[in-house]
Amino acid sequence: MNWISNYVRPTINSLFSRREVPENLWTKCDSCGTMLFHRELADSLNVCMNCGHHMNISPRDRFDRLFDNGIYSEVAVPAPLADPLQFRDQKRYPERMRAAQKKTGETEAMLVVEGEIGRSPVVSACQDFAFMGGSMGMHVGNALVAGAERALKRRTPFIVFAAAGGARMQEGILSLMQMPRSTVAVQMLREAGLPYIVVLTHPTTGGVTASYAMLGDIQIAEPGALICFAGPRVIEQTIREKLPEGFQSAEYLLEHGMLDRVTARRDLRDELITIIRLLMRQPPAIKGELPPPGPAPQPDPPTPAEPSNGGQP
Ligand SMILES: [Zn+2]
Repeated sequence: MNWISNYVRPTINSLFSRREVPENLWTKCDSCGTMLFHRELADSLNVCMNCGHHMNISPRDRFDRLFDNGIYSEVAVPAPLADPLQFRDQKRYPERMRAAQKKTGETEAMLVVEGEIGRSPVVSACQDFAFMGGSMGMHVGNALVAGAERALKRRTPFIVFAAAGGARMQEGILSLMQMPRSTVAVQMLREAGLPYIVVLTHPTTGGVTASYAMLGDIQIAEPGALICFAGPRVIEQTIREKLPEGFQSAEYLLEHGMLDRVTARRDLRDELITIIRLLMRQPPAIKGELPPPGPAPQPDPPTPAEPSNGGQP
């Protein structure tokens, strides 16, 4: 049977699967349409270099750049019951889960970690919009409770990055139960006097907006993020009125007193450091690192002179 696995199967696979081509070297900006080179885009934290549009960023990419030296450790989240309702729409729920896991490389839609930001210890949770729209199911509820409990145990602030299309319909009422559960988790932090900071990213909607995403001591949003319970299209169809320009955008919400700050992603780390230190009554952060003690650095050896003809043949 070896020839089947060694010869026939690879031949069939090569016939039916296209060759691996680096097709994701360029990303098109959703807002201005500019083609952006993947490395430059990653350097700018998935923010368009042309128009400043904030695209989705995975929890791990965000944490890599948020924590000091990109060092953090995951906080274990208890696994919920899989497919409690045996839910099926066009596909079965476990099939959708497997597809999302394969696409993102994550097991679920929220990642909880702990580490230091500007040398202040914090616990942070980030929702992954690429994983079934970041939908709030039992896992997300468990993740928020686990994160809050960890922050309580270590007496640190809890920072949540929200991004979601709402509750996970495949878990029905069990997903809606995560709204009161996460609210209780936030309340535990409040009673312990620990800061709970929410960063709203594009888009944060539905049951997430109706629970933990709007309960922060400090509410920050990324520029241009859509933050709402029901989306503008639904509202427009219901009330049959034209909505104002920029309705439910982060800037609109800031203007109407629903947010404290709208902060660009590149400035977020510094701003969080300042806020954490203020709220935890720590001295202000020291900007820049001093060089380690040791002998004075030697001057660079002189570089060889350029050819006088400027490199022309
Ligand atoms: Zn753009």
